[in-house]
Amino acid sequence: MERREGRQQEKKKFIPMRMRKFIKKKCRFCKQKIDSIDYKDINLLRRHTTPSAKILGGRISGNCARHQALLSRAIKRARYLALLPYTIK
Ligand SMILES: [Zn+2]
Repeated sequence: MERREGRQQEKKKFIPMRMRKFIKKKCRFCKQKIDSIDYKDINLLRRHTTPSAKILGGRISGNCARHQALLSRAIKRARYLALLPYTIK
């Protein structure tokens, strides 16, 4: 019985690529009603960059255009102040 339950949980986690476009993403900043994104909040900014320090696109992260623009501006500001790297080799 325990084994079966474990398998079902694994199945729930896995979503095939062709199914993903049906899942509607909502902008997490709109959800939390955030009006401005702080460039000093590195943990938040880091979540929106790839492992090679590129900015994740709005389509991938599910952010709306307004918040994506605020976010990319915050990341660029943080990069200039050396809080975030420009690239990671
Ligand atoms: Zn938004």
